Amino acid sequence: KSDLVIVYHRLPYEEFMQDGKLVRRRPQSPNGIIPTLLSFFADGRSGSWVAWSQYENDDGTFEVHTEVDTENYPNLVAARVSLSAEDVDIFYKKFSKEAFWPTLHTFWERASFEEDHWEVFLKVNQLFAERTAAEAAPGATVWIHDYNLWMVPAYLRELRPDLTIAFFHHTYFPSADVFNVVPWRREIVGSLLQCDYIGFHIPRQAENFVDVARGVMPVEVVERVNCAPRFLTFGCAVGLDEMTTRIRVNDRYIGLGAHPVGLDLNRVEKVLADPATQERLEVLREELSGVRLILSVERLDFTKGILEKLEAYERLLDEHPELSEKITLMIVCVPAASGMTIYDELQSQIEQTVGRINGRFARVGWTPVQFFFRSLPFEELVCYYTMSDVMWITPLRDGLNLVAKEYVATQGMTDGSGVLVLSEFTGAAAELRGAVLTNPHDPRELANTCYFALSMNRTEARNRLAEAFDVVRHYDIDYWAKNFLDAVAEYDASFLERE
Ligand code: UDP
Repeated sequence: KSDLVIVYHRLPYEEFMQDGKLVRRRPQSPNGIIPTLLSFFADGRSGSWVAWSQYENDDGTFEVHTEVDTENYPNLVAARVSLSAEDVDIFYKKFSKEAFWPTLHTFWERASFEEDHWEVFLKVNQLFAERTAAEAAPGATVWIHDYNLWMVPAYLRELRPDLTIAFFHHTYFPSADVFNVVPWRREIVGSLLQCDYIGFHIPRQAENFVDVARGVMPVEVVERVNCAPRFLTFGCAVGLDEMTTRIRVNDRYIGLGAHPVGLDLNRVEKVLADPATQERLEVLREELSGVRLILSVERLDFTKGILEKLEAYERLLDEHPELSEKITLMIVCVPAASGMTIYDELQSQIEQTVGRINGRFARVGWTPVQFFFRSLPFEELVCYYTMSDVMWITPLRDGLNLVAKEYVATQGMTDGSGVLVLSEFTGAAAELRGAVLTNPHDPRELANTCYFALSMNRTEARNRLAEAFDVVRHYDIDYWAKNFLDAVAEYDASFLERE
């Protein structure tokens, strides 16, 4: 039994079938959260990590408990929830992404709500709760992650009233006007209100949740705090001056907090110190000579505003013919997981737009848009972050946006003078002072802010970057995790005092 149980949809290691055998290895894909959560167990602390798995042993049995990494985390055990491929398909690829993802990002009209899928969602969440209940020691802290496990707190509270249940929301959380369209909003809010503490990236998201909760149950606001100076309070679409940090619902108190996820700066530092990176930078410098690089890195998703950015870029080239052969826009677009079809149309629209812009403006030896439809290794991204003059991040809505922080960290560590142009609808915009904020819903402003960034003098660019780098450096990934768990513990202590 464990005092700390992490409940996350992914395992802390990778597993896959190779030549008919089940292989396990350390996580390779880019994910800052897994190593951070793992670091809690580095000092030999015991714990459990609940996640799903589709893989049986060669003899057809399913192993619930597996070791994670006996060398580094000797007392951490993975507790696997067995899901069929069909459950994963409906619960994760279809329902979570087709119903909740669009709604959470304010695109509720794109959401499709299927009752049968909700039933699968409930079943999977119940399985996660049952496994968690079996893992947790009396009075343990359980840390649940993200919207695909929304219903776990309800089931878990019923099974284990003694636990401290904390939840962190990794995506945007929209206003009540949007969220209330969800047919199961009462069930979801009812479940979240079984938590002791709920964390979001930024105050606006926490406040939106309070509004949504108010529409479901009588909520008494017990404590509010000023958001400044940690967060921007004006001049940004997602800024907010005051937020609720404690509510009372019936006889329960629930703590709320804003905890934007931070970066693992060592990871960037290591890449920059690698001689292979320096060699790669030399080559890139030669390839780009005389052309200024505007960089855009994101998954293929309608929330990321890729099409809107391309249209703004076309406008920029139309309005500023002098930029011909002087700039290039590189878009690194990570394809969606296999089996997801909802992004097919967007992909073809993007490809057509790239084709049109290149067809209209290209010259011999100059391509206005370079479109990479694949995921690049982090090492390669860091090279492009180092080389780019403007990082153009334009989500229509985003919970946070780690790429923005990675760019700031890379430029900060290389003494660069690149300019971050950041959508004011990202969580990171409420935090990253110094960024040039932009409204991606306004094509004229989108083009103008990109031009402004290209024309910025180096002193201003460096000053802005230094401001943003201070934030990224101070509020790193370790700060995030520790600050969150401290807030949970503090909440618990103050609650016990009152009792
Ligand atoms: N990423 C990567 N290779 C790519 C594109 C992105 O490793 O080709 C990583 C990137 O470094 C970042 C993450 O994917 O850590 C994307 O996180 P972000 O918060 O920006 O967006 P999300 O995809 O989570 O919405």
